[in-house]
Amino acid sequence: MHDVIIIGAGPAGLSAAFWCDELGLDTLVLEQAEQIGGQLHRVYNPVNNYLGLKARNGRELLEHFSAGVEDAGFDLWTGAEIESVDLRAKKIALRSGERLQSIAVIVATGVRARTLNLPGEKEFAGKGMIDSATRDRDLFAGQDVCVVGGGDAAVENALLLADVCPTVTVVHRGRKLRARREFVERLQPNHAVTVFTESVLTRIIGTDHVEAVEIQRKDGLKPFQLAVRGVLIRIGVEPNTELFREQVELDQKSYVAVNSEHETSVSMVFAIGDVSNPTAPTISGATGAGATAAKVIAARLSAQRMHG
Ligand SMILES: Cc1cc2nc3c(=O)[nH]c(=O)nc-3n(C[C@H](O)[C@H](O)[C@H](O)COP(=O)(O)OP(=O)(O)OC[C@H]3O[C@@H](n4cnc5c(N)ncnc54)[C@H](O)[C@@H]3O)c2cc1C
Repeated sequence: MHDVIIIGAGPAGLSAAFWCDELGLDTLVLEQAEQIGGQLHRVYNPVNNYLGLKARNGRELLEHFSAGVEDAGFDLWTGAEIESVDLRAKKIALRSGERLQSIAVIVATGVRARTLNLPGEKEFAGKGMIDSATRDRDLFAGQDVCVVGGGDAAVENALLLADVCPTVTVVHRGRKLRARREFVERLQPNHAVTVFTESVLTRIIGTDHVEAVEIQRKDGLKPFQLAVRGVLIRIGVEPNTELFREQVELDQKSYVAVNSEHETSVSMVFAIGDVSNPTAPTISGATGAGATAAKVIAARLSAQRMHG
């Protein structure tokens, strides 16, 4: 029986783990990936907005965050695949057969990039699917590309690609781009960029590599094909909450609902970081929430132990 089981080892889960350890709690962290760090592995831009630290990218920040993990008092299991969770009973079953139990659970499972679920999307990974313009744009310099999405991330990536690509076609489902005005204003006069609003991507075409996309406009006309060598998809994120459905209260977009102590609708079950923060997800917010949850748990357990 552990005091705390933390699910997820991104910035939120790691922060909670260090805090729980410092507060003397017996803590186990379960991370499904083989490596810790969560979305930090996908941050190729410099991180200049984390107080006191500047990093060239997410991985460099992770080096700071993970310093001391090996010597810390908490247990950390990577590659830990959870089969089922009973949040009321605080019981967790792993695919490997282990059965775990704790007094408190912290959910720190973050979010994942939304996908279009189109044929070709997975198959062309590394063969024309662009993960990040910051990282991949030299690879696609001189080639025609397509960007799907209309928010900040999509438009920012389109602008980066437009510096090096002869044509960048932005395909957006809505009537207007949702990105901040500053980005949209930079996009409009750019001769390399064409924007199709009220349009969706219906196919990614190619043999060994992306060769074209098929675009369907909402005006009902026949879909048309556009020759491109690269496709970047930025259509938002979705929370990793499948395991917890019907066990804790989720909001309309399936994020975990929490109070100001980061406690969920189930007593002694907490949710921290992006998984419970649909409006302003940040690294600072995630690490701060980890600290808050750990302190609340420590105070509750110490009160229980004094009275018990
Ligand atoms: C391209 C990009 C740029 C960004 N730039 C910035 C920036 O400049 N500044 C900033 O503040 N923020 C930035 N962010 C956002 C920032 O990365 C996130 O806010 C932060 O990583 C959230 O941390 P988290 O721990 O809540 O979630 P995540 O980082 O998503 O980590 C969640 C972890 O939980 C694990 N997990 C999920 N499901 C399970 C499960 N069932 N069992 C076990 N483990 C599980 C995942 O594998 C992952 O390791 C950026 C994000 C991206 C994608």
